[in-house]
Amino acid sequence: MSVRVTFLGSGNAFAAGGRAHACILIEHDGGTLLLDCGGASLPAITRRADPGRIDAIAVTHLHGDHFGGIPFLMDEQRWNGRTRPLAIGGPPSLRRRLDQVAAGFGMDFTDLRFEWQVVVLGAEPAMLAGAGVTAHPVRHSSDAEPHGLRVRAGGKLIAYSGDATWTKDLVDLADGADLFISECTWFSKRDPVHLNAMDLEEHGKDLRARRVVLTHLGAEALAHRAELPYEAADDGTVLEL
Ligand SMILES: [Zn+2]
Repeated sequence: MSVRVTFLGSGNAFAAGGRAHACILIEHDGGTLLLDCGGASLPAITRRADPGRIDAIAVTHLHGDHFGGIPFLMDEQRWNGRTRPLAIGGPPSLRRRLDQVAAGFGMDFTDLRFEWQVVVLGAEPAMLAGAGVTAHPVRHSSDAEPHGLRVRAGGKLIAYSGDATWTKDLVDLADGADLFISECTWFSKRDPVHLNAMDLEEHGKDLRARRVVLTHLGAEALAHRAELPYEAADDGTVLEL
């Protein structure tokens, strides 16, 4: 099997265009990994995938449109009798924030029949769903503890910006990737915490990735879709690497 990347959710926080929150499924021989699991992700997962096959989740930052769906996924798995372990990797405060969200939702994960663990991602590879995952600096809302991800799975390298505005960190993040998944919230609007297509066009020559695919599309970016400098994902887009 090659490495298959499925965009389950390709929307921004406001679900522009009816898109689901950030949620990208990576399937390879060694396991099944989600990159981000936003608040509206569970219906996007159940529409196109089997939640019971997800071995691990890697989270880019602590905003609800990127990790808010994890409690719903865990609750669904509890009631479906899951016994397969679930590993979740992300920023340092992920475990505390997950506990807060679950408590707020009235969910109790102290008596699950499956083991789950939360690991802090960093420069040293963490093994999640048989993939080596590292975290890299990006510029986004600092209180969300943002990082980009590099994922080595099935002999391929996938880089993912999470949410980020343009900095040279993205050149390092994308370096040598078979696929660079970049957010593109805006078409031309300047935003201190998000990318726009103009920045990607201007700096694209510096990106040393074999393929660049845009996600996290806001309404303004969608209105200019035909002018985007790279192909854009939709909910349901599948890539074979
Ligand atoms: Zn976001």
